[in-house]
This record gives sequence, C-alpha cells and structure tokens, in this order.
Amino acid sequence: MERFLNYIGGERRAARSEQWLVSVDPSTGEPWAEVPDSDSTDVEDAVAAASRAFAESDWRRIPAAERAARLRSLADSVEANAERLSDVETRDNGRPLRETRFSQIPGAAMQIRYLAGLSEDITGSTLNIRPDTMAYTMWEPVGVVAVIIPWNGPLPVFFAKVTAALAAGNAVIVKPAQQATASILEATKLFDDLDIPAGLVNVVSGRGASVGDAIAGHPGVGKISFTGSTETGRRIMQSATVNIKNLLLELGGKSPNIVFADADLDAAAAGAAAGIFTPNAGQACVAGSRILVESAVYDEFVARLAKHAENIVVGDPFDPDTGMGPIANGSQYESIRSYLDVGRSEGAALEFGGRVTEQLMPESSRLRGGYFVEPTLFTTDRNSLRVAREEIFGPVAVAVPFQHEEDAVRIANDTEYGLAAGVWTEDLRRAHRMTRRLQAGVVWVNTYKAMHWALPFGGHKHSGNGTAGGPTALHEWMNQKSVWMNVGEQLPPAAPVGDSRLPIK
Ligand code: NDP
Repeated sequence: MERFLNYIGGERRAARSEQWLVSVDPSTGEPWAEVPDSDSTDVEDAVAAASRAFAESDWRRIPAAERAARLRSLADSVEANAERLSDVETRDNGRPLRETRFSQIPGAAMQIRYLAGLSEDITGSTLNIRPDTMAYTMWEPVGVVAVIIPWNGPLPVFFAKVTAALAAGNAVIVKPAQQATASILEATKLFDDLDIPAGLVNVVSGRGASVGDAIAGHPGVGKISFTGSTETGRRIMQSATVNIKNLLLELGGKSPNIVFADADLDAAAAGAAAGIFTPNAGQACVAGSRILVESAVYDEFVARLAKHAENIVVGDPFDPDTGMGPIANGSQYESIRSYLDVGRSEGAALEFGGRVTEQLMPESSRLRGGYFVEPTLFTTDRNSLRVAREEIFGPVAVAVPFQHEEDAVRIANDTEYGLAAGVWTEDLRRAHRMTRRLQAGVVWVNTYKAMHWALPFGGHKHSGNGTAGGPTALHEWMNQKSVWMNVGEQLPPAAPVGDSRLPIK
C-alpha cells in the first residue's frame, strides 16, 4: 500500500500518534493507501508553522507581481504533474479519469492563473468625505486561515482555495476529507520546487471530529473556508464562536432543474442527465436532483431522460468509455442505498434504475467489491417526500410534475436549500422571470452545471454564505481597513462627520 504523509512547516511527517487511516479504492473496495490519522497535537504544529511563516516570511511583503509570478509557477507545476495527480484522485475517490485528467486538473491550472492575476489587482477606494481629510480603504490578509475539504472534488477545491488564500497573502492549513486525502497530500509535493515559503501551506490529514474540530475551534485560525454538508457547516459555525471566526460556507443543495413544455426536450433531457448522473454519479453540490417537468410533456420527457440514462456506462473510472464511476466511499454508498429504500417505502415510483453493485457487476469482475449505483429516477407528485427534500448526493433524481409557471416557482423554492437551479424554455421572457424568482446562488438557462472561476459562486438559504470566485474572490480571504488621514492645517478634534462646528481647513 502507498503511504502519504502530512505536510507541516514544509516537512512531510506521520501523525504524532503514528496512527493511520486506510484509504479504499471505491471501484474495487480494496484498501490501497494509508494516510495519517492526526489529532489536535498535529493541528497545533500546523498552526504554529503557519503563524511563523505568516509573521516571518516575505510572502505578504513582496511586490504583488512577484507573488503572482510565483503562484503562476504552481499552475505550471499542476500541468506538469497532471498524470500522477489525476491517477491518485481517480484511484482514491472514483471520479472518472476522463474528468479528473482532462477537465479538472487543466481547469485547476487555469483557475490558479486567474487567482494569481487577482493578487496583482487588490484595490481599495478613496472617499471624498471632507477637503481636509483623505479617507481610503485597504485590504489586508487575515493571517492564518484554514480550508476544510469534502471528498467529492478534493483537488479542484484544494487548488482553488489554497491559491486564493495565498494570493491574498495568508498562510493556510488544509484538512482534507478522511476518505479522499491521498491526492491532496500528493499535491503538496508540488510546493517542494516552488518559491513559496515553507509553512505557508500545511495539510493535516485526519478525521472531522478530531482534526476538523480542532481547526474550527482554534483561536489561532482567523478564517475558515468549509465546503461540505449543511449539518457539518452548522457544527463548524458553533466551534467558530471561539474567536468570532470569519466563515465561508459552501454547503449542500437539492437543486431544481425545471423543464417547460416549450423547451428543446432533447437538450433538456441531456442536460438533466448530465446535471445529476455524469460524470460523478450525482456527488456534486449543484446536482440537479429535483427535475420539475411541465405536465403536458412529463411522460415524453421522462422517456427521453430514461434513454439518456440507459446509454451511460457505469464502471471502471480508469476506462475512457466510463460515463459514471463508483460512489466515492463505502459510507456514502450505504447512505444512497438506504435512500433507494426510503423512496420505495414512501411511495415514489421507481421509473428507472435502482440497481447496485450486486446486480450491476458480474461475480467474476474485480469491480464486484466496488460501490456502484446506476442512474436512478423516482417519480412523484409530492415534493414533500424525503427523496424530494433531502440531499442524497448520488445518482438518484426525483421527477415532479408541475402545471404552470407559478406552480414551478413554488415547488422549486420549496426547499431549505438555495444553491443552484436550471430552467429549460425557449421563451426569453419566461427565462428572465424565472431567473429573478428562483432562490439560488446560480441559475442556468438551457444548460446546467456550467462553472467558471470568473463568476461568483455561493449558496443562498441553507446552502451557505459568502462568495467564492469572481473578481472579488480574494476579499473572502482579507480584512478591510478604513483609514482617515488628516491633511488639513489644523488637527480637527475627534468629532462626528456631521458636526457642523468642525472647521474645514
Ligand atoms: P461533510 O460535511 O461530511 O464533510 C466535509 C468536511 O468536513 C470533511 O473534511 C469532514 O471530515 C469535515 N468535518 C466533519 N465533521 C467535522 C467537524 N465536526 N468539524 C470540522 N470538520 C468536520 O461533507 P462530505 O465530505 O460528505 O461532502 C458532501 C457534502 O458537501 C454535500 O452536502 C455537498 O453538497 C457538499 N458540497 C458543497 C459544495 C459547494 O460548493 N456548495 C461543493 C462540494 C460539496 P471527515 O470526512 O474526515 O469526517
């Protein structure tokens, strides 16, 4: 088995306890790697290393262009190591290689370059308050910040968050998800050859309840970016009260993908299938897991969706023909299986799918021990069912009919979440009306799941707070400061701005 080590203060080390967690290949169910099972003592080491690097290194004092250039070399290194990184990612969490190798890693490199550019463009504003006063704002790094990562997309989240934190001048501590840590620890090797001071990037592998909780409650950590479930997000908010930590929370979703009768139904069916099934077996925060279809075309649309689902090859994530790989880990596999039972028992109709590894993989196959679920659709007219309300985080969608636009808006917004939504219609006016009325951080019209780092991304309602991406992405990693400078001849006394007795010189 391969072993991956923590990365603290520029050194690779085992956990102080010398305990290990076993990482399982989800396509076979076989253990393939070990990662450190760290605890709060390792977190202390990482916070100390990050604090030292933030205070003593030149990172936040070098010219912005220099910092940007050093970050761009990280992008070059990501590209140069794409093969190894994507192999480890696919082995560890089962995301098909055609996605990790040819989409996610190249995308990460491009995003790093975008963020590096932003570090050259950190601007404040000057305010014309009084003629004897120069007032301006400036942005400063927070200091030591932390990133807690989920298992569904470890490397893209790692590179995006770490680069943004560094571009803003911070030192960063990363906690990967215990079931998908190996690729992130592998990625730390890239920093060995870069001109980024040791201790600015630290990765502590371990469990959420120990390492994650120690980071969230640590008084030396000023900011946390958390991507994961809404439930864990709530827990982190509670731990973060220790020093009134600044939080960026990117949480769960149960996103509606809405198909009107006037839509191009083939495009909509392809978009709905890609929105929930491929490539990552529905393990995407923005998955279009509730497919709302206008009654007039409901049966026809469901039939077309079934055709798309039938054509998806479920299997070995290293096979280029595979459209959908395994579920990323055993506990998520069990959770999805239990939702298949929930759907059946609460009376949703199983329209297609529902088979898992035992029915999908022949006994002789090495994939027989893996965690496979085929594309599955439940249909129901009750948006109140658990399968229509809870985030399943797997290739399981529920289709719900609606009568008219008002009805579609009502059902779409009838959820605690507000991450994403899709609308399929040929009616331009309706498209604009819908984008305004849907409660979601991102709305797609006649497409689904399109993402780009130049567009802000963040959840509404219980899907999170704060904004990643976009031209102001670095602000999430900085504190704003206001400066009042007396440039008049006479020092005015401290006084409210509106005080008319204050002389103007
Ligand atoms: P979890 O919330 O279970 O875990 C996310 C991370 O938090 C893991 O690293 C986990 O560690 C850690 N963690 C768990 N408990 C604690 C704790 N008490 N204190 C601090 N950290 C803790 O989510 P999943 O990994 O299951 O990821 C799936 C979820 O992520 C889905 O809800 C999905 O929608 C959401 N997500 C949201 C995205 C967005 O941008 N909005 C993007 C991607 C996913 P460990 O695993 O080691 O226990």
